[in-house]
Amino acid sequence: MTDSVERPRALRRAGTWVLAFVTLAGVTAGMLALRAHLDKAHIALVYLLVVLVGSAVGGRALGLTLAGVAFLAFNFIFLPPYYTLAIEDPFDWLVLAAFLATSIVATQLLNRAQAGALEARQRAAEVERLAMLGSETLNAGRAEDALGAIAEVIRSTLRVACAEILVDRGAPPRITPVARAGACGAAAAPADDSLAAWVARMGTGAEEHHDRTMRVAPAAPGAAAPDAWGRGGGWQVTSGTRALLVPLRVRERTVGVLRIAHDEPIALDPAQQQFLDALSYYAALGVERMRLVAEAERAEALRQADALKNALIAGVSHDFRTPLTTIKGLAHRLAREGFAEGASIEEEADRLNRIVADLLDLSRLSAGGLSVHAELNAVDDLVGAAVRGVRGVAASRTIVPPRAGAGPLFGTFDLAQSVRILVNLLENALKYAPADTPIELAVAEHDGRLRIDVADRGPGIPEAERERVFEPFYRAPGAPPDVGGAGLGLAIARRLAEAQGGAVRFRPRPGGGSIFTLDLPAAQAPVLR
Ligand code: ADP
Repeated sequence: MTDSVERPRALRRAGTWVLAFVTLAGVTAGMLALRAHLDKAHIALVYLLVVLVGSAVGGRALGLTLAGVAFLAFNFIFLPPYYTLAIEDPFDWLVLAAFLATSIVATQLLNRAQAGALEARQRAAEVERLAMLGSETLNAGRAEDALGAIAEVIRSTLRVACAEILVDRGAPPRITPVARAGACGAAAAPADDSLAAWVARMGTGAEEHHDRTMRVAPAAPGAAAPDAWGRGGGWQVTSGTRALLVPLRVRERTVGVLRIAHDEPIALDPAQQQFLDALSYYAALGVERMRLVAEAERAEALRQADALKNALIAGVSHDFRTPLTTIKGLAHRLAREGFAEGASIEEEADRLNRIVADLLDLSRLSAGGLSVHAELNAVDDLVGAAVRGVRGVAASRTIVPPRAGAGPLFGTFDLAQSVRILVNLLENALKYAPADTPIELAVAEHDGRLRIDVADRGPGIPEAERERVFEPFYRAPGAPPDVGGAGLGLAIARRLAEAQGGAVRFRPRPGGGSIFTLDLPAAQAPVLR
């Protein structure tokens, strides 16, 4: 492809031609000396030999040229009348025609066989390269190494200066090379990174030309999924292309860009284009593998961090319990002896104890270590127990019980844990809604689900925070600091509900306030005998 390769080849070809004609002249001179003793068949055979050797060494053009010149020499020198192109004996025409036809057919056949052998050699080399690539990519421990091997095979097969694989990494979009083969600096460097970023975004191939202009793959609306580098497919590289940018696609998604660049214009024959198509798919798979490996590593790191966090929380909260019990005991004694501070220390110790218990539960829930026992239960029992549970702290508040429906409802849930969830929702409603507003409960069954609504006339929750309130330790920025929570209640409630096939959801209440819904699996009423 380069000048340094082309020049010796042209010289070699000229040398072969000169040698062939010198041989023809020598053979002719030799036969001329022996003309009196030679038969026409001898002459024809010797010339045929020269034509065949010439065509085997120098190709079809040399073979046909030698055949033409030998034909004339045969006629001019060896067929009477000598040194004219006229023919004395009409049968000599037959000899000449037979010689010419045999030379031409033999040259053609020889050439065809040679072309077939060359193609077979090329195919064998291609297969060998692909096999090598296959084993290298399979053996490569890291996806990056496999990509490097692919880039090298592409570079050496297409005989270009540089082959690199680029990937668009995150925001702001920055296209960076993940594998490189050959000399990608200097002349082969990209004129502009934004073209590669464009190819990655659009999934369409592009060319950079020596005059620094660019061309993108032609559009072909309605064309099937393109392979040959972009929208329309079947794209021919235009002359003057110094770099070719091929989108790397897996399952209709562009995962990266292959860029091949050369200091001379790039020209690809159809076989090379096909090869590039196949290898760019390999490269796309390599990029995809790299992405999946990175994702798995990230997930594993997160899992480990999570496990560490849970172990830490469990350990710390466990260690808090003993000193808290001692503090509570001492505070209780102080209170009994008439010290007013004793009661508030005891109250604070209780609060801390609740937070520690919540923390322990949350870590157990996250680690799957808190067991729930879902069984057939009546909804009335659940609601009744929850309302009784908050009565102590809200004796003066109005809690409107659910309206009586057609009959008692049943569900499959863990009664104790579901009571805990509902108590939490009721406590929140009592905490966040004004004291003179009622808390209303509603129960319904729909499509195999039980829905228990706790509705209040509190401030509601701004849209941006509606999911975040279910995250551990999240407290709304405006939440009053004196209401006593640590932001764990809703996180635990949701996880507890999910552990038994249920959910906890928020929706704004028409007319102001919140509705928190505990959703549980419904069940048929038991048949009493
Ligand atoms: P805590 O109540 O201990 O802060 P929760 O997890 O129970 O923690 O609640 C998280 C946040 O959700 C609270 O800080 C509060 O801002 C908001 N929230 C919960 N329930 C209500 C409600 N009924 N009305 C308004 N805001 C609520």
